Amino acid sequence: MKKIFLLLLLLSVACGNEPALPTAAPDPTPTAVPTSSIPAYQNPALPTAERVDDLLGRMTLAEKLGQMTLVEKGSITPTDISTLGLGGLLSGGGGSPTQNTAEAWLAMVNGFQEEALQSRLGIPLIYGVDAVHGHGNLRGATIFPHNIGLGAANNPTLMEAIGRATAVETAATGIRWNYGPAVSIARDPRWGRTYESYSEDPERVSTLASAYVRGLQGADLSAADSVLATPKHFVGDGGTAWGSSHGGYQIDQGDTQVDEATLRAIHLVPYPRVIAEGAQSIMVSFSRWNDAYMHGNQYLLTDVLRDEFGFRGFIVSDWQAINQINPDFYAAVVQSINAGVDMNMVPYDYKGFITVMETAVANGDITMERIDAAVRHILTVKFELGLFERPLGDDSLLAQVGSAEHRALAREAVQQSLVLLQNNGGVLPLAADTPTIFVAGAGADDIGLQSGGWTIQWQGKTGNITPGTTILEGIEALVSPETNLRYNAFGNFERVTDDSGQPLIADVGIAVLSEQPYAEGVGDSATLTLSESETAVLARLQSQSKVVIVVLLSGRPLIINDLLAQTDAFVAAWLPGTEGNGVADVLFGDVPFTGTLPSTWPSAVPTGAADFATLPANMVLFPRGFSAK
Ligand code: BGC
Ligand code: BGC
Repeated sequence: MKKIFLLLLLLSVACGNEPALPTAAPDPTPTAVPTSSIPAYQNPALPTAERVDDLLGRMTLAEKLGQMTLVEKGSITPTDISTLGLGGLLSGGGGSPTQNTAEAWLAMVNGFQEEALQSRLGIPLIYGVDAVHGHGNLRGATIFPHNIGLGAANNPTLMEAIGRATAVETAATGIRWNYGPAVSIARDPRWGRTYESYSEDPERVSTLASAYVRGLQGADLSAADSVLATPKHFVGDGGTAWGSSHGGYQIDQGDTQVDEATLRAIHLVPYPRVIAEGAQSIMVSFSRWNDAYMHGNQYLLTDVLRDEFGFRGFIVSDWQAINQINPDFYAAVVQSINAGVDMNMVPYDYKGFITVMETAVANGDITMERIDAAVRHILTVKFELGLFERPLGDDSLLAQVGSAEHRALAREAVQQSLVLLQNNGGVLPLAADTPTIFVAGAGADDIGLQSGGWTIQWQGKTGNITPGTTILEGIEALVSPETNLRYNAFGNFERVTDDSGQPLIADVGIAVLSEQPYAEGVGDSATLTLSESETAVLARLQSQSKVVIVVLLSGRPLIINDLLAQTDAFVAAWLPGTEGNGVADVLFGDVPFTGTLPSTWPSAVPTGAADFATLPANMVLFPRGFSAK
């Protein structure tokens, strides 16, 4: 409209005419103007269902197919957003603007949205991102512990507050859609996504995920700082069998080989719970259930999720996941859309998807009824998010990104997430006035290592990738001014000598040992062991410390039998995120240890597929719920 008017204006100016304002016939009933002059779908006073019906009635098939398409922003030709009437855009892992600041994110997302508002019907985009432990792609955001640590904290009140803070920081960048919480029930820690799962226990997962959804979506989904949750990945993503993956991975994206009663008793449990909390978008799992791809499973997506559980929102595919279910893309799309997928996450070739959809509709392989249902689900959520009234983010929330208040909350979450696994002789907590403390391990002073995957980059990255406090900095702040505190990443302290020139023996040595960051199947591990360079750090530290404490940074339990035997105290710190001082707070007793193991800690890795929650007793090092005194 605006464009046409401008064009007419320019034309008339070019022709030397006075620019004429468009004239309208006087309205005979002036009081009716506000409602009659705008289409029903643009009238916020009308009920959502009425607005959806009105809008759907105005849409062409092409516009409907556009709404069903979700594109990664790196692939987008911006004008396609308006000409194709695309439904959504996302930032994949690491999908930040060139300048990774909150202001630049907001400008980027608003820019895309302005393009969408230029489409014939002006339907706003829904923009999504993986804010899975805070707004992790954004430099300067508050990074909370990954879910496994929050599972150890097991505190629904804390979860709700984290959901709220994450929503505020995400909405500050114009984004109202988060691809979380993962409600995966991870049953095999060899899975590279174990840390995205709160627990092996469906009850713990359901309670924590529900609280998080509450916090994220707020009291009113249409509020400027409310963010739509996306419980994922439906269903059985955490139950896949070791060795069953097709995708070059070992267990991620594999096959969940359980009968229906087991699927219902474990993996399906969180879904009715998060739906009851108001979840309105659910992401499908790459995985298979007894060799049937979830993305083509009409029974689970439609009969169970929609009809039985009463899910009223929209179902979104995972990243190019529809392509996997059949080598023939046409057949894959037909099967998946008919099974119940409403919106397709297309990282690259979105035009290819739309073309195939057009053909499928023309051939009668996908009915108009199915298309209308899918678009209805999507539009309903867009209306409820208030996107039609407030499509653009403003800068009013920017000050809260990485705020002191949010960082204090994250620090509290870190404190609560630590699990004490061993404390021989009660060496913990440490005294602040301990005369000599040696700290070893790269993980003691590295924001990237303590944050893990899905931080700035999809796979995460070592180094000072975003502002935060390292564990070492936390320790430095707590020890007395008289303490001789030394740090060496490799645990080399031979050159630290006493008055007589002999190597100094520390009263306490703290080794922070860590896994390298990883995400998804890249992190699948057959052995669950730390690298030799990490264990060597411990050996070196040990030779020069009276008491040795290990703090383990990992996305899952690892095989630590030998390490435990060499240490006095052992702390599972998971992947705490940017607030490493939360670890120091507990080591020095400012706050007590309260975390409990969210999942079974194995003493050995079984060969072949296994459910670690039901390992035989001789393979269990610590049971779920454990914490040492
Ligand atoms: C992951 C999802 C994620 C999506 C978008 C996929 O590879 O499986 O969990 O939400 O990418 O980044
Ligand atoms: C993207 C992730 C996505 C993954 C899927 C990556 O390139 O950044 O968001 O989950 O691909 O394999």
